[in-house]
Amino acid sequence: MQKIVPKLLIIFPFILLLGACVAADKVSTIGGELALCDAQIGPSASAADPRLANINWQSSINNETDITAALSKMSLAEKVGQMVQTDIVAATPDEVKTYNIGSIINLTPDGKLGTTQAWRNLADSYQLAALQSSSAIPMVFAIDAVHGHSYFDGNAVILPHNIGLGASRNPSLVKQLARLTAKELSATGVRWTFSPTIAVAQNIRWGRTYESFGETTELQQMFATPMVAGYQGDELSAVHTVGATAKHFVADGATDDGIDRGDASISEREMRRNHLPGFIDAIEGDVVSVMVSFSAINGEKLHGSKSLISGLLKTELGFEGVVVTDWEGVQMSDLSLKQGLDAGIDMFMFAQSWKTSLPEIIALVESGQVPMSRIDDAVRRILKMKLRLGLFNTPLSSSDCANSMGSQEHRNLAKQAVRESLVLLKNADAILPLSKTAKVIVVGSHANNIPYQCGGWTKKWQGAHLDLFNNPARPVEGATSILDGIKNVIGEKNVIEAGINGMSDQADVAIIVVGETPYAEGFGDRSGEELVLSAKHQALIETYHQAGKKVVTLLISGRPLLVNKQIEQSDAFVAAWLPGSEGQGIAEVLFGDYDFQGKLGFSWPGDVSHIGIQPGEANYAPRYPYGFGLRY
Ligand code: BGC
Repeated sequence: MQKIVPKLLIIFPFILLLGACVAADKVSTIGGELALCDAQIGPSASAADPRLANINWQSSINNETDITAALSKMSLAEKVGQMVQTDIVAATPDEVKTYNIGSIINLTPDGKLGTTQAWRNLADSYQLAALQSSSAIPMVFAIDAVHGHSYFDGNAVILPHNIGLGASRNPSLVKQLARLTAKELSATGVRWTFSPTIAVAQNIRWGRTYESFGETTELQQMFATPMVAGYQGDELSAVHTVGATAKHFVADGATDDGIDRGDASISEREMRRNHLPGFIDAIEGDVVSVMVSFSAINGEKLHGSKSLISGLLKTELGFEGVVVTDWEGVQMSDLSLKQGLDAGIDMFMFAQSWKTSLPEIIALVESGQVPMSRIDDAVRRILKMKLRLGLFNTPLSSSDCANSMGSQEHRNLAKQAVRESLVLLKNADAILPLSKTAKVIVVGSHANNIPYQCGGWTKKWQGAHLDLFNNPARPVEGATSILDGIKNVIGEKNVIEAGINGMSDQADVAIIVVGETPYAEGFGDRSGEELVLSAKHQALIETYHQAGKKVVTLLISGRPLLVNKQIEQSDAFVAAWLPGSEGQGIAEVLFGDYDFQGKLGFSWPGDVSHIGIQPGEANYAPRYPYGFGLRY
């Protein structure tokens, strides 16, 4: 119950409150293509799997005409079952079979699985159940893979969060990262991800700022299409691909004061001009699904907005994929299921509530309050997505990509992303690059803390440091800390470890690694004044500065912070965002193997008054403008 219970426990009060190898990886993959899996593209071993032998599953759905025929035969209950998605702890395989449940999300792996084989077995247990349901329609196994296969309780590669990818300005690299993720997902039976987040975050006070590529539509559009293309590949029925989700529709990043799930007071023109273009691109890129935002626009909750979902998204933009709710999105928005259905929702992401919601939807149709045509629209879209994913022919998971999980090739690509995401804000007297032969002191709470460098949405919703009950969360297997990365690059003997807060005078240069601790969603919302380093972190930089050391500060954070004094007290200052599992990428840039190339995707404020003011707006006077980034 780890995931379901915490999310409910935490969100409800919340809603109430708010309303190894150093040299081997020099090869750049830019422009290159990531290797595919050992794939048997087309009908795979799955169809011949002995577990299917005694199941009458062979589908007659091979095209859209077949979908029409299937719809005419399905009962209302079978159709509504398809519209339900729920978590592994909220429904058993037997329930999937009994209720024809359309999709299962795995947000609660909880360290009990741990291997690709165990995950595939789990996915297949649900699939075999779905194939034995009265409709025999396969379910689709889904997950939030927002920076790599980050919920996998094994050695998946954890990518930099989107804020870092945005800083790279390298869409072809990002496409390869999405492809890498798709392979690792498919190795565990997952065929649908709730990514990319294409929010245009307008206020860094928002706890989801780091899920955004940047504060401009330019960056939303730079990355939406490549990321969808990377996930979905050239042929979505191939085993190494996954369906993508553009989220959250629409203007989730525009809420007043950056309040998560809040209200965006924006004109329709602004919504269309600043927040919609990335969705249009994703739709043109054939994204299989769009997730609705928890937020509202001028008081209208998105989950109940017929004009925006049925009108704008489905009719005007011609989106033919699946509109999925956010987590209990209709209920969390204080809307009725009828309002959600009327608005145009196709699939509902439910927790335990599916048990009451499913019969309620059936009753709404039986009583004539919701027309069958609306249900048919939803189910047609869901079946079409499953057809595109090849699930009617190859319903069971494939082991073709198993060897790619956490592979060196994947790690090298992620490390490249780390290097390219770093933004150099200050480099006084050209202190960087540092010499590989000089001794350096490494200090700070984030220097040797992999959960911190990975941030939220890693292993657990709120990150891999602690779970919501303050228990240590799972380790991030196969990851390299920033400290270990430095040791790998310059040799252990050149590194003086000063711990979290220690003072050392054994070298002239101190690399101080500090920043934010992990959070996700509204747990990361802050006031402007709170966007600062902790007193301990401030004191650490001050102490080394006062001692006359050369200070290189690495900031690990999900957004710019108000750090004027710390920048003044540092000789070099690097925004490293949330780099993920490949901490060595940082050392490779600090010590001159590669130059910096990252550029700010968010304007960097000098004081509270700069927060929320966008490039081009009156009074735009940040400390560092959008696009800023030094090289050596
Ligand atoms: C988030 C979504 C996510 C969903 C499932 C929600 O709280 O807003 O982005 O896909 O949970 O975990």
